[in-house]
Amino acid sequence: MKLQESINNNQGPYLITGPCSAETPDQLMQVCVEIAQNKQANLLRAGIWKPRTRPDSFEGVGAIGLPWLVEAGKACGLPTTTEIANAHHANAALKAGVDVLWIGARTTVNPFAVQEIADALKGVDIPVMVKNPVNPDLELWIGAFERLEKAGIKDLAAIHRGFSFYKHPKYRNAPNWEIPMAFRQRCQDIPMICDPSHIAGKRDLLLEICQKAMDLNYDGLMIETHPDPLKAWSDASQQVTPKGLGKLLMNLVLRSSESNETIEQQLQEFRDKIELLDDRLFDILSSRMNLSKEVGEFKRLNNITIYQQEHWAKVISKRMSKSEDYQLTERFIRQAMDAIHQESIRHQTKVMNPNLPNSETP
Ligand code: PEP
Ligand code: MN
Repeated sequence: MKLQESINNNQGPYLITGPCSAETPDQLMQVCVEIAQNKQANLLRAGIWKPRTRPDSFEGVGAIGLPWLVEAGKACGLPTTTEIANAHHANAALKAGVDVLWIGARTTVNPFAVQEIADALKGVDIPVMVKNPVNPDLELWIGAFERLEKAGIKDLAAIHRGFSFYKHPKYRNAPNWEIPMAFRQRCQDIPMICDPSHIAGKRDLLLEICQKAMDLNYDGLMIETHPDPLKAWSDASQQVTPKGLGKLLMNLVLRSSESNETIEQQLQEFRDKIELLDDRLFDILSSRMNLSKEVGEFKRLNNITIYQQEHWAKVISKRMSKSEDYQLTERFIRQAMDAIHQESIRHQTKVMNPNLPNSETP
């Protein structure tokens, strides 16, 4: 099958649904029949080999589940996909007739494993989807695509499933939306699918993530769907029934990424105003940095260090305390102030150490 073509020709988000794990032939068939009847899938997913964090968790039924998946797909007219983590998985899935393969987050992180898979797929005409690595490393994610492309695999898609995070206040994995956005800037022909199930970790949070993905113009969604989620052998708290999936999809607002001339003109007026503000913003930043140079000169003459922790803590906390007035998140304020601070330190460093060749901070 042609994956990119199917995604690009699809009306609305391309849907990859099905259980986290294949458990029994009945479980797979039941969920597949329902999602096919309700037109809730373009591609049927099920994990056969499950890389789990702890050794006592269910690690998948193994190769015995491959024919269950392929047969459920055939019975309902749906192509199928499963996760592969090594060359042995790749060969077994190909032999069973799985239509699309995906590389999971815990495998993308390992260049040796990705290379092994790429070598196993050399000369094979099969689409491959690559989830982001568990760590927030854009280059590693892109590197996995390069390995596959070098092996002749051209029909590729990316899946954003979030990044490992110690005690995220809300989600199982931090979305870090800026990383998939940067990926799309760099690899414009590769479709981007969002996997809200593994970002959220909880059913109740799926809709808000799906909506954000749609508003960011993602091409599709991979949503774990189980006939009886509470009894699922893996990821029970994030899976939804086909009925729950239907409700979620009904509540999703789909907006067009294309507009007409009148809308474009009106939009341009807003953009012009924003550009004027950006002009002012950067003029102010530039003046601020000129002051930083003067401060650097003063510190050099008086022989004091650039960084004074107490002072900087005060500067940050003053701005953060105004987050409600500004209607900006504390996270944004901290990031913006940190970026300004780094640039200021760079200017001061240059002034204070004019004779050092590499005095710029990275
Ligand atoms: C999955 O899709 O079930 C899975 C294990 O995903 P990830 O690689 O994102 O953890
Ligand atoms: Mn899962």
